[in-house]
Amino acid sequence: MPATIYYDNDADLSLLKDKTIAILGFGSQGHAQAQNLRDSGCNVIVSELPGTPNYDLAKKNGFEPLSTEEAVAQGDLIQILLPDEIQGDVYRARIRDHLSPGNILMCSHGFNIHFGQIEPPPGVDTLLVAPKGPGHLVRSEFVKGGGVPSLIAVGDGASRETFALGLAYAKGIGGTRGGVIETTFAEETETDLFGEQVVLCGGVSELVKAAFETLVEAGYQPEMAYFECLHELKLIVDLFYQGGLNYMRYSVSNTAEYGDYTRGPRIINQETRDEMKKILGEIRNGEFAREWILENKAGAPAFKAYRRRDRELELEEVGRRLRSLMSWIDAKEV
Ligand code: NDP
Ligand code: MG
Repeated sequence: MPATIYYDNDADLSLLKDKTIAILGFGSQGHAQAQNLRDSGCNVIVSELPGTPNYDLAKKNGFEPLSTEEAVAQGDLIQILLPDEIQGDVYRARIRDHLSPGNILMCSHGFNIHFGQIEPPPGVDTLLVAPKGPGHLVRSEFVKGGGVPSLIAVGDGASRETFALGLAYAKGIGGTRGGVIETTFAEETETDLFGEQVVLCGGVSELVKAAFETLVEAGYQPEMAYFECLHELKLIVDLFYQGGLNYMRYSVSNTAEYGDYTRGPRIINQETRDEMKKILGEIRNGEFAREWILENKAGAPAFKAYRRRDRELELEEVGRRLRSLMSWIDAKEV
């Protein structure tokens, strides 16, 4: 079933006229959503942790950051734009007791509400408005007069008025200029996790690592392996982005296209597809969420170990060296 998509004319910004929007966290999404809403004429307050760079950034941008408790108490719509892994704790310690009936609790990713880490009190609807792009793009597109496509969803039992306020909010951040797709908390959360695990982060990283190591083990120079298996991926993804698989295939050589059809399915084979189904099952039944929440409660020891291990890969060492020679790529090291 094709999605329902809303545009500027479907949304009424005046619904927000007498509302105060509290943005919790002035990070990637927070700084963009807060400024776009303010530029759209909305009443916006923000909260940040005193003494942090983003607190100073909020001040520099003309906000007077409040404590979380104070911002929640003053806000009618409370948009939680804190790191996902701390939202549950911050909610219980600093948000829950300051909500009033009629408030709307918002997020830009459904993980904590969908998996029960945030359980709003009676009388408080939940609403998701999520730009499908990073915060800096949400801000820069808005300033240019455009907007990043976004998602909207309301929680169980939420009113039609909450949905209309969500569309107004989406208009305020520029989302309806790009189109706002109606979804559910479950669909947003589950597809987001699946995408990042199977394709965007997990799938692609592991594909690159395995291919690089195969070439190096076979005696090819690591620099050659780096260019073939990682660097050139950007050129291919840019073609996907502009015109899908078909445009990529139109642009590459016939030899590459033939290899794609005949060898690709041997890499992503039935076993891979079965594993994808298993991963989707673990997302849907909450197993992944439980694992990640417990990992964080324990101080994230496994997570930190994975990070250390992968930073030391030969792929990464070769890459650092090669990127330092490519002045045009805006190389980043963290
Ligand atoms: P960031 O980490 O960029 O920003 C979070 C901000 O919250 C930081 O400034 C952080 O400060 C601050 N913060 C941390 N703890 C507290 C606290 N107790 N009280 C007040 N402020 C605090 O997060 P994102 O913007 O990336 O993510 C926010 C939400 O948006 C998440 O739910 C995410 O899934 C969602 N989202 C993100 C997208 C993205 O591209 N980034 C895209 C779509 C959705 P400090 O830096 O000092 O820790
Ligand atoms: Mg994501």
